[in-house]
Amino acid sequence: MRTLIVEDDPLLGDALATGLRQLGHVVDWFRQGQQATASLAATAYDAVVLDLGLPGDDGMVCLTRWRAQGVSLPVLILTARDGVDQRIAGLDAGADDYLVKPITIDELAARLRALVRRSAGRSQVVWQHGELEYDPASKRVRWQHQPVDLTRHELALLEALLAQPQRVLSKDTLQEKLYDWREEGPESNTLEVHVHRLRKKIHPAIVRTVRGVGYALGAGEAVS
Ligand code: CA
Repeated sequence: MRTLIVEDDPLLGDALATGLRQLGHVVDWFRQGQQATASLAATAYDAVVLDLGLPGDDGMVCLTRWRAQGVSLPVLILTARDGVDQRIAGLDAGADDYLVKPITIDELAARLRALVRRSAGRSQVVWQHGELEYDPASKRVRWQHQPVDLTRHELALLEALLAQPQRVLSKDTLQEKLYDWREEGPESNTLEVHVHRLRKKIHPAIVRTVRGVGYALGAGEAVS
């Protein structure tokens, strides 16, 4: 999943970005609300981690603006230990959850998984698509009960397709789920390479090509 972090504290921001990347998130980290707002308008994020105390527009101002603009994706706010009023105001302004600093990466990641699950209307912890199983917590993939070993980018691609099983996703949207702003602009055909590998490692029909548009999740059964 692609996660936006807005945190002005350099040590905490770096720890959050590094920790979530190690857990397979594609992460963009901004220290200011204005930059985050601009990136949010241009990128297909799955969730936002928002510090409330920020220079310039603070987190509450950003959150209120995003919700007024119709941004519906899950937002988790980070607050200080004594900030109970802030937490209430944050939830009332449209936050979906909060964590009190100091936080642990594992708890943050678990909360984000729960938020994304809820926003997708999913109650199942392990995602199932026919004979394919994906556990977003452990990042384990099984096909016909056998483990499938995928790279970070292949996993991100599969996760993006499984997250919206009914939709055709454009190549641009999928690229956004695979690479953050720091990474080198990927070669134009890398997405195709990842699609090819998913088909090879799982089965040929697992990804459907929609010519001129992009890709969609394909069959969950190995039909011959
Ligand atoms: Ca802060």
